[in-house]
Amino acid sequence: MRLIFIYMNKFEELGLGEAIIKAVNDMGFETPSEVQEKAIPILLDKDTDIVALAQTGTGKTAAFGFPLIEKIDSKSKITQGLILSPTRELCLQITNELKNYSKYIPGLRTVAIYGGASIMDQAKEIKRGAQIIVATPGRMQDMINRKMVDITNIDYCILDEADEMLNMGFYEDISAILADTPKEKSTWLFSATMPREVSTIAKRFMHDPVEITVGHKNTGSENVSHEYYVVNSRDRYAALKRLSDANPDIFSVVFCRTKRDTQKVAENLIGDGYNAAALHGDLSQNQRDLVMKSFRNRQIQMLVATDVAARGIDVNDITHVINYQLPDEIETYTHRSGRTGRAGKSGVSMVIVSKSEVRKIKSVERIIKKSFEKKEIPSGEEICQVQLFHLASDIGKAEINHEIDSYLPSINEVLEEFSKEELIKKFFSVEFSRFHNYYKKSRDLNASGGDREGDSYNSDGSTRYFINVGEKDGFDWMTLKDFLKEVLELGGDSLSRVDVKESFSFFNTNSEYQERVLSVFEDFKMEGRKVNVEISKDSGRSRGGRRRRDNGGSGGGFKGKRRSDGFKPKGKKRFDSNEDRGSRSGGDRGRDRRKRSDRR
Ligand code: AMP
Repeated sequence: MRLIFIYMNKFEELGLGEAIIKAVNDMGFETPSEVQEKAIPILLDKDTDIVALAQTGTGKTAAFGFPLIEKIDSKSKITQGLILSPTRELCLQITNELKNYSKYIPGLRTVAIYGGASIMDQAKEIKRGAQIIVATPGRMQDMINRKMVDITNIDYCILDEADEMLNMGFYEDISAILADTPKEKSTWLFSATMPREVSTIAKRFMHDPVEITVGHKNTGSENVSHEYYVVNSRDRYAALKRLSDANPDIFSVVFCRTKRDTQKVAENLIGDGYNAAALHGDLSQNQRDLVMKSFRNRQIQMLVATDVAARGIDVNDITHVINYQLPDEIETYTHRSGRTGRAGKSGVSMVIVSKSEVRKIKSVERIIKKSFEKKEIPSGEEICQVQLFHLASDIGKAEINHEIDSYLPSINEVLEEFSKEELIKKFFSVEFSRFHNYYKKSRDLNASGGDREGDSYNSDGSTRYFINVGEKDGFDWMTLKDFLKEVLELGGDSLSRVDVKESFSFFNTNSEYQERVLSVFEDFKMEGRKVNVEISKDSGRSRGGRRRRDNGGSGGGFKGKRRSDGFKPKGKKRFDSNEDRGSRSGGDRGRDRRKRSDRR
C-alpha cells in the first residue's frame, strides 16, 4: 500500500479556497492568527451570527474578510455584504485589504463609502456594481436616504469596531441602517471591548450569536506592557520629552484629552526640534491625510492626537503609546494602548499621571486586567547614556560614503597626532557635549509619593542611596559608577541612576545588595575623609536602614536654592527650569541628528 501525503498549509486547513490561498501566499501570511483560527471555520461552515471580541491588529479584517469573500457570489452584481466601520481611515484600510484578498476572484468589487469625499463619485462606483460595500455609518445613512445604495438584499452585515462606532455616537445611524437590511441575513460583530451599548446592539439585532474571544474581554493586547510615571502636573511636558529622549527610536502616538492640548503639545515638540505633528478634529480632511501620510512614512516620530482623531489608526510598528493625560472614559485606554503591540510585535503604553491621578491607574488595571509597572522618569544622566550609545551604535552601523576618500590625506594630516581614543572622545564631544551639558544638571522629575498601597516604591526592585561625595570631589557619574563598582564588587548592571550633584550624589543598586552597600560603607574612608552612604528617603519603605531625603536634581536644590543652569537656547527666552514648556531642549542635538539621518 502506498501512502500519499498531501501538504496543506494552515489556511487551507481552515477551509479556504484556492483563490484566497493564492492571495494569502502573495501577502506572506504564514499562519492564521488566533481570531482567524477561531472565526473562519465557524463562518465558512454555517450562516450564523457571531460576536467576536478582538483588538485591532489581531488580524480581524481577514477573520471576517476571508469567509465573506468565499461566500459572495461574484457573478451577481447585487450588493451582498455590508461592512460598517467607525472612520474613513479604517473604511479605506478594510477596502484595501479586501481588494488584496480577492484579487484572484474576477468580477468581485469592493467599494468604500465615507464622508468628506464626493458622494456622487461614490454613488457612481456603487452603480457599476459592488458586491461588498465598506461604509462609515453617517455616509451610509445619507446614501440610503438618497436611494443611492440598495442594501435590502444583503446576506452579511459586519459591524467592525462596534464599540468605537457606538462611542462616536453612531447608535441611531446603525439602528436605522440595520432596519433597512433583511431579517434573514447573518450579522458579524467585531469589537475590542464589550461595553453595555455593544451588548444592547447584539441583543437587539442578532440571533443567538456564537461568541468568540481573543484574549480576555475588554483587555488589551498581550504584547503590550503598561507603565506609569508620577510627575507634578507642571512637569508633564518635560516628562514627555524625557520619555522620548530615553527611547531614541521611538515611533509613537501621544494621546491628549483635548484638541487644544493636542495642538499645544505638538507645537511645543516641533519648537523643541522633535519630528512631531498634531492630529485632531479641527484639521481639514486634507491636512489629516497629509499628517497620516507623513506618520506612515516615518517622517513623524511622535503623532500627538485626540482620541477621536486617532480612531482607526492602523499603523504597524508603533513602539510606544504615550498617554500624556489619561482619557476621561477609562474604556478608551484599551483603544489607545491597542495602537501598539500589533501584528505580533511588542509595544509599551506609558501613562504620565499627577499624584492625584494615581488612583485612576487602579481602575484602568481592573478594566484591562493587567498590572501597570510604576516607573521613574529617567534622569538626565540616564538619557545621555542612552543617547550616547545610540549614537555610537548608529556610527557603527553607518555605511561608509567613499566620496570622502579623496579628502582623507588632508584630514589625516589635521588629525594625525591623536590616538584612536582621543579621536573618539573628540568626535563625541563635538556631537554630544551640548546634549550632555543640558541634561547633566537636569532636575529629577519624579513626584514623590503617589504610591499605591502594597507597591514597593522602586517598582524595579532597586534601592536608592545617598553618598556624601560629588563633583567637588572630582566625580562625574561615570567615575563614581566605576568607583562604586570597584568597592562594592558589583557588575555595571547592578548599579544604576548614578546622579552626581555638587557635594553629594545618589545611586541605585538592586535591592538584594543593600546589606552589602551599607556594610562596605559603614566605616569607609577616602583620602582620610569618611564616606557616608545612607538609604535615600525616596527609595521606599524602610528596610531598617538609615534614610536620607533625595532632594532631586538641580531644580529642587540641596541648599534650598533653585538652579537655572540649564542649556540656554540662542535667541530664546530663558526659563526658570530648563525643561519648562516651550523651552528648546538639549534634546535638540539628538533630534537634529535624527532628522538629518531620516532625510538620508
Ligand atoms: P487587522 O487586525 O485586521 O487590522 O490586521 C493587522 C495587520 O496584520 C494587517 O496589516 C494585516 O495585513 C496583518 N495580518 C492579518 N492576518 C495576518 C496573518 N495571519 N499573518 C500575518 N499578518 C497578518
